[in-house]
Amino acid sequence: MLNSGKSIMDWSERLAQFSEPQWAAKNQLTCTYLTPAHIQTAAELRVLMHEAGFDEVSTDAVGNVVGIYRGAQPDTDTQGSPVQLKTLLTGSHYDTVRTGGKYDGRLGVLIPVACVAELVRQKRRLPFNFEVVGFSEEEGQRFRATFLASGALTGDFDPDWLEQQDTDGVTMRQAMHAAGLPGDMVAINQLKRDPSRYLGFVEAHIEQGPVLCEGGQPLGVVTSINAGVRATCKITGMAAHAGTTPMLMRQDALLAAAEISLMAESRARQDEGSVATVGQMQVPGGSINVIPGECLFTLDMRAPFDAQRDALVNDILAQAQVIAERRQVNFEFTEVMRASAAPSDPLLQQRWERAVQAVGQSVFKLNSGAGHDAMKLHTIMPQAMLFVRGGNRGISHNPLEIISAEDAALATQAFMALLDGFQIDLTNTK
Ligand SMILES: [Zn+2]
Repeated sequence: MLNSGKSIMDWSERLAQFSEPQWAAKNQLTCTYLTPAHIQTAAELRVLMHEAGFDEVSTDAVGNVVGIYRGAQPDTDTQGSPVQLKTLLTGSHYDTVRTGGKYDGRLGVLIPVACVAELVRQKRRLPFNFEVVGFSEEEGQRFRATFLASGALTGDFDPDWLEQQDTDGVTMRQAMHAAGLPGDMVAINQLKRDPSRYLGFVEAHIEQGPVLCEGGQPLGVVTSINAGVRATCKITGMAAHAGTTPMLMRQDALLAAAEISLMAESRARQDEGSVATVGQMQVPGGSINVIPGECLFTLDMRAPFDAQRDALVNDILAQAQVIAERRQVNFEFTEVMRASAAPSDPLLQQRWERAVQAVGQSVFKLNSGAGHDAMKLHTIMPQAMLFVRGGNRGISHNPLEIISAEDAALATQAFMALLDGFQIDLTNTK
């Protein structure tokens, strides 16, 4: 086996050298959709895939980097015509949040790239095609179009997204044209995958949480990805003089938002596994001596099951209206993302369990609090994920995000064991 741990650490550094200028200056990583740093990252990923020995490497109409390692020449059926090989799909995203980590997403591309490098070294072909996708966008940073990249594969790319503007007023279509992409729905619709040609989707990902690190487990098998809803919220009150307006005569938009945030916290705490977060809050044009007349904030709400998530969202919305009425402000809620819970396919999950055991580890199962590309692919084909332990108590979406070369190597061996498992099963069913 090649020294896959070292390779993955080196490759992660090679990809991380491309960061947007404002962050690069601070030696931090930010790589959002179709910025120059993002386009350079994609180019480097193509180089890595070529070096590993993929048969085909390309960039598709939404900027996904797609590598294919073709399966062994197919047998012929009884009529003498060649049997269409199925394809195992894997991958993860190469975009990052602002001030992100080097492994979130990218690890799930680099592990299968390391597997292909090893297969090439062994001069081995699998009895199926192996398709590795570096998804161009998962984090929803530059545009409010989270999962647009994996969504293009499932036919969920919303045509309205093309007209959406970033904070500089650049539309997604313009950004696509600047990156040399067609920027039209005809090309994007062609990316939709036909599930009948696939064995399923598997994704490796850094855990992004403390569970594996605290539990002393290098690898975890994911049982389900949490359901989530994201919304942008707007409170409209009345801007007024901070000195002359008595406390009981105010319509303070910020305080209403603050009370709603605290309410969301306590409501989420009532459930096992529910979480609610206000990640952004702004008082547009606010001043030190003006009562906030307007407040914008975001809400991110997640739970392990759809029904639990729906109850959480409905309760928070109803309570927010009560708070708004009492404070005599207007509350607007715009849902920007809704994702169903994605339980792992039992058979694929079992393949990960066997793969983890094959590399001498005990099976440790956990659910995913974070959303992943696998939840998009879940809508059209079976999926299951493998988590890799993050150091620093699993901190992620942070420059402190870290993995060890040993864990990267172990994850690559487990991925190889997964591929071998498919090989044995497909060979036996011939
Ligand atoms: Zn990620």
